[in-house]
Amino acid sequence: MQTLKYLNGYPEPLQQRARELLAEGKLGEAVRRRYAQPHAVRNDRQLYDYVQTLKDRHLRQSQPLGKVLYDAKLQVVKHALGTHTAISRNHGGKLKASREIRIASVFREAPAEFLRMIVVHELAHIKEADHNKAFYQLCLHMEPDYHQLEFDMRLYLTALEHEPR
Ligand SMILES: [Zn+2]
Repeated sequence: MQTLKYLNGYPEPLQQRARELLAEGKLGEAVRRRYAQPHAVRNDRQLYDYVQTLKDRHLRQSQPLGKVLYDAKLQVVKHALGTHTAISRNHGGKLKASREIRIASVFREAPAEFLRMIVVHELAHIKEADHNKAFYQLCLHMEPDYHQLEFDMRLYLTALEHEPR
């Protein structure tokens, strides 16, 4: 049976349905039909503004953002859907942490909802390091449809990997 790395941990019937759609060559099409809207976040500068806007709306009190960039070398699964590094820098003798956020560059071409989902995920890590209950509550606070979007985003990545376009 084909292992679908992005869907590990989801109930077997859901994985089986994804395998069936893949076998028919229709998984990507099914996802793209539901998420047809592209986004206009083309470069790192625009990505920074996009992340900052979401942060201002939901996490104003948290640590300031450091660098924000699309990273072509980032592997989505290996790095648990992105990376979140806290870098401590010395500001006038006072140690101040700023958050660097790297988004896998596959999301530059992804539907708008999936970019938002991955950015919400990374922003939630500013306050919660682990994927625990508090972490997912933060995600849901920023994006009420978070769990559905994460699942569908994983279907999208599965289709990108297994289905020629
Ligand atoms: Zn994470």
